[in-house]
Amino acid sequence: MPLHYKTTLKDQLVDDIYASSDLSHSLPRYRIPREEQAPRHVYQLVHDELMLDGNSRQNLATFCQTWLEPEVRSLMAECTDKNMIDKDEYPQSAEIESRCVHMLADLWNAPQASDTLGCSTTGSSEAAMLGGMALKWRWRERLRKQGKATDRPNLVCGPVQVCWHKFARYWDVELREIPMQGDRLIMNPEEVVKRCDENTIGVVATLGVTFTCQYEPVAAVSAALDRLQQETGLDIPIHVDGASGGFIAPFVEPELVWDFRLERVKSINASGHKFGLAPLGVGWVVWRSEADLHQELIFEVNYLGGNMPTFALNFSRPGGQIVAQYYNFLRLGFEGYRKIHLACYETARYLAEQIEKTGLFEIIYNGRGGIPAVSFSLKPESDPGFNLFDLSDRIRSRGWQIAAYAMPAEREDLVIMRILVRHGVSRDLADLLLADLRRCIAYFAGHPLQHHSSGEESGGFSHS
Ligand SMILES: *Cc1c(COP(=O)(O)O)cnc(C)c1O
Repeated sequence: MPLHYKTTLKDQLVDDIYASSDLSHSLPRYRIPREEQAPRHVYQLVHDELMLDGNSRQNLATFCQTWLEPEVRSLMAECTDKNMIDKDEYPQSAEIESRCVHMLADLWNAPQASDTLGCSTTGSSEAAMLGGMALKWRWRERLRKQGKATDRPNLVCGPVQVCWHKFARYWDVELREIPMQGDRLIMNPEEVVKRCDENTIGVVATLGVTFTCQYEPVAAVSAALDRLQQETGLDIPIHVDGASGGFIAPFVEPELVWDFRLERVKSINASGHKFGLAPLGVGWVVWRSEADLHQELIFEVNYLGGNMPTFALNFSRPGGQIVAQYYNFLRLGFEGYRKIHLACYETARYLAEQIEKTGLFEIIYNGRGGIPAVSFSLKPESDPGFNLFDLSDRIRSRGWQIAAYAMPAEREDLVIMRILVRHGVSRDLADLLLADLRRCIAYFAGHPLQHHSSGEESGGFSHS
């Protein structure tokens, strides 16, 4: 009897998964099938399809967490059925969210951390939308009181992550993005002040710029804005996009002043799922004080009887990530975060040294003065028989995913590669990567590629 004619119940129960008749077809792609299928079988096939995603631990293009403690996985599983928005049904999850907000406000030196405002989000992108809206609402109210037009708001920033481009477009704000210039790949105070006027809703400074991983000089920008205020009366607030740096600098460089210690910093966002070490799906935004968030934007949640007013774009949201964030705060404490990040910095600097030693690359960022990462370009004079897109492609044959991409406005000529070193990227893993990198270089030396002009291909990576 042909294998696929076995139809009795017993046959179906004892079938090996891969020999079963219902798996003798490709999975449907465009239409929901008519009939049910056995969960074990479908699970196996979907599981197998996911193999093609590659290995997230080897994705060195992402800032996001790809290694999690087993306890975090347990908590996530325990929370899969809890909706964060149901604050009266799940008051303890809501309480845990509130504790996280206060802990972050304290970590970022809010004047009154126990009575500050903030909320969890799905990530820094949503947090940035909320921070940006708060800036816009406050600016609009100020100008209305002065009887001025409020139809031309602008936002001044350096090379920002795409979420700020989205914010500007979705909320009709002109984005005055300071272009890169020569070796200056981030904002500086002069360039910021030049672009500010009475329609500036705020300045966004990034702690850990997506392209190069450097910190923008928040304190210097703040001081320049202080001088601008003395000279012109313009009082322009700062929002810090600390997507990565917000969870690194306080632990590793507590003396670096970038947070609410600066009076002008009114709000901060950070991604819990990046260097906050929480699983994917959580970000945070915290305001300096209640006055920095317009009342109109606050939706009172009084089920708790506490003072936890919130505003957010999403309604239903999973609670596990927030619970896991709290777990991490307790589990690691200040010392734990510091140790993990310091180990990452050491590995990043080691990688930078070793990559430089190949003689082919110019190190653009070596893991000092920003987040634990390395970025580099090909030396303009070197002719190694490949460009960075080729290298990115080739090293993928060993499973490594490393972004190669062109810089934004006015330095589009510069193509760089960036390696993020995060929790779980050990020194040993770095050595394995370096061995593969050298292997690729040797391969191209024997099989050089010709290019008409460098940088015309585009990498398939997003700047997450
Ligand atoms: C990652 C990142 C974002 C977006 O954060 P998500 O948590 O992925 O939404 C915004 N800004 C910067 C600087 C980032 O690195």
